[in-house]
Amino acid sequence: MAGHLRRLIDFASLTAAEQDRSVFVSHDLTVVRQVSSRVVVLYLGAVVEDRPTEALFDDAQHPYTRALMKAAPKLGVRKESGSAALAGELPSAVDRPSGCRFRTRCPLAQSVCAELEPELWGPGDNGTAACHFAWPSHKAPPPRALRSG
Ligand code: SF4
Repeated sequence: MAGHLRRLIDFASLTAAEQDRSVFVSHDLTVVRQVSSRVVVLYLGAVVEDRPTEALFDDAQHPYTRALMKAAPKLGVRKESGSAALAGELPSAVDRPSGCRFRTRCPLAQSVCAELEPELWGPGDNGTAACHFAWPSHKAPPPRALRSG
């Protein structure tokens, strides 16, 4: 927590123009929310969700983003042992799973997730997520492997 506080103090000392040009890197989305207008979530070396900050916190679409939110510390709430938000180990980046890179830890994974890598997509101007089942009321674009031409 002290490291986060130090980085927040450093960030707050920047001018507004400097803050606009800055990238703040953290695993703690609670902290990220305080200092960012846009959030890019990475998993195993690739972007899995890229959203305006408030849109992300209103309706995160990628299961990994939701797991990070679940894991974020909350004031006055003690974390119970054995309540990890994510099951399993992080796979090797050089021998990553087929299809969706998050599928070995995803609670929503289906067979298509092992076959086709989801692309970043979004139905409007509300950012993008790399999940076949993001925005369930909209139809995801066909994965690259199925496109013709
Ligand atoms: S594409 Fe499948 S495995 Fe990947 S995040 Fe979405 S539901 Fe989970």
